[in-house]
Amino acid sequence: MAIKRVLHYGEQSLREPSKEVHKVSKKINDLIRDLFDTMYAQNGVGLAAPQIGVNLRVFVVDASTKEEPLEPMVFINPKIIKKSGAVKSSEGCLSFPEAYTDVVRYKDIMVKATNAHGKPFVMEAKDGSLLARCIQHENDHLDGILFIDHSLNRFETEEVLKKNNLPSIDPEKLLDETELKEQL
Ligand code: ZN
Repeated sequence: MAIKRVLHYGEQSLREPSKEVHKVSKKINDLIRDLFDTMYAQNGVGLAAPQIGVNLRVFVVDASTKEEPLEPMVFINPKIIKKSGAVKSSEGCLSFPEAYTDVVRYKDIMVKATNAHGKPFVMEAKDGSLLARCIQHENDHLDGILFIDHSLNRFETEEVLKKNNLPSIDPEKLLDETELKEQL
């Protein structure tokens, strides 16, 4: 289909909650192809619809590594139905070029979603794997939540944003994850 422009931090769609998809129509399938085309063009691991300015609950993931080849995956109307454990990792985002910072995520998750054929599925991602972290990161995008909201050290994140000429942290968006951080 088409490689779309990826919105950068500071643009409105990234902070807006996205709407449920009611039917996996041709329009949604076109969106899915655009997401894959754009994600691969930018060497990303995941991309959510709001990142290309479409506020619908859809994201795509290709968390394949040399050690663990995985199929590209589509998540429509996803819901994380189980989560446990905590893991610290350095994360980036195609909407924050060159900016990486440490965040806290759940280690194990179970997610329910609909695939590109309109079929519901449930899957697990464990051990703080790239897939597990990526699903949480992309799922957040659908609620206008960004990875910097999970920062372990907001001052470090501020520095990284400044260095990359990105807008600063919005303190009101920072998540209180004391319980999760205590498990690290
Ligand atoms: Zn992102």
